[in-house]
Amino acid sequence: MNAPLKQHLIDPEICIRCNTCEETCPVDAITHDSNNYVVDAARCNLCMDCIPPCPTGSIDNWRIVGAPYSLEDQFSWEELPKQEQIATGDGAEAIDADVQALIDSAHTGAGGKSVAPASALKPSVNLYNRDSAAIATVTGNYRLTHEESDVDVHHIILDLGDTPLPVLEGQSIGIVPPGVDPDGKPHRIRLYSIASPRHGERPNHNNLALTVKRETNGVCSNYMCDLKKGDKVRITGPFGATFLMPNDPAANIIMICTGTGSAPFRAFTEWRRRAMPNATGRMLLFFGARRPQDLPYFGPLQKVPDSLLGKYFAYSRVPGEKKVYVQDLMRREETMLAKLAPSPHTHIYVCGLKGMEQGVDSALDDICRSAELRWADLRDAMRSEGRYHVETY
Ligand code: NAP
Repeated sequence: MNAPLKQHLIDPEICIRCNTCEETCPVDAITHDSNNYVVDAARCNLCMDCIPPCPTGSIDNWRIVGAPYSLEDQFSWEELPKQEQIATGDGAEAIDADVQALIDSAHTGAGGKSVAPASALKPSVNLYNRDSAAIATVTGNYRLTHEESDVDVHHIILDLGDTPLPVLEGQSIGIVPPGVDPDGKPHRIRLYSIASPRHGERPNHNNLALTVKRETNGVCSNYMCDLKKGDKVRITGPFGATFLMPNDPAANIIMICTGTGSAPFRAFTEWRRRAMPNATGRMLLFFGARRPQDLPYFGPLQKVPDSLLGKYFAYSRVPGEKKVYVQDLMRREETMLAKLAPSPHTHIYVCGLKGMEQGVDSALDDICRSAELRWADLRDAMRSEGRYHVETY
């Protein structure tokens, strides 16, 4: 048999098919078909470049194999195969310690270069999957955008009853939409960031909230936006072990988002408001939408005091006004951001449209230059200290 090797694989149950890994891979080892994103074992050099940008962690999966899974195998999967025992010695059951250690490390994931804030609590992950989904009951489904807006965003509250689902702010859950696609395969699980804090949408209730935008022809978003009180929903997860909030009242938290990318930041803000009302660290929110009517949580956000949350709204399509993006507002607040940037207490989170990532990066580059700092160096340091996080798709 071949010598055991560590094979890099992508979890088809969690992957949201955002193409980030394929774009990132420097050796073109990642490819996809209409079903799955897959890794070519013959090309993958285990460089780990694809691990940090993945918004879900689906990329961080490994198996120790005698012979690698082929691309055809991976294209056909609905879920990852279990780790098999690898016999290496003379006897069929013999397995040496090095191989066992490899297998153990594969189970915990590679870790990659993406790091959680040092003070963040350890999250629970992967408690439920498609076959053993948690069942929640819908207790609320409210439209978040103005009645005049053609953007239909909903705030959906799911009650878990007696089912334990411990979550932290910044984590996501999967929703299993009912039914099958035209090929008879079960619909793909869709991931949503949790928009409520760890101890519930309503404090000390075993419930959570999601922010869902109705997409034209979107199987899961239409299912979710049409849910009625009392309906049952199948949940997987929780997912995400790095895009987490620092558990530190001195932390400055700079949050940059568009549209429904605001979901985790609602959770961050609510947790700080409830758990650390006298926090000394600042919280700032740069939030982009086309018009005020399209901005989820616009009304409630107006009521959050500036002492808790500094709010900067960027509107790109207000008739008669210049297009403004979040990165334009950040440039406008250069003096304040340049002051916060070098602090070891400062954390930056970016969540929402993929296109915003580059604009935000270049705004931070300019802002840092104004303070004679090099953003590329600062960003690397912040990343390795778990203080810079990007979740865009
Ligand atoms: P959207 O309404 O399409 O866009 C929001 C704003 O971003 C618009 O004003 C848009 O301006 C602007 N924008 C477009 N390109 C930009 C760029 N390059 N730089 C800066 N701003 C830019 O947003 P959305 O549909 O709600 O999308 C939010 C994203 O968040 C989705 O990709 C979603 O998957 C992701 N997300 C959702 C969740 C969740 O839990 N639901 C969680 C995390 C992330 P113009 O259109 O006028 O150009």
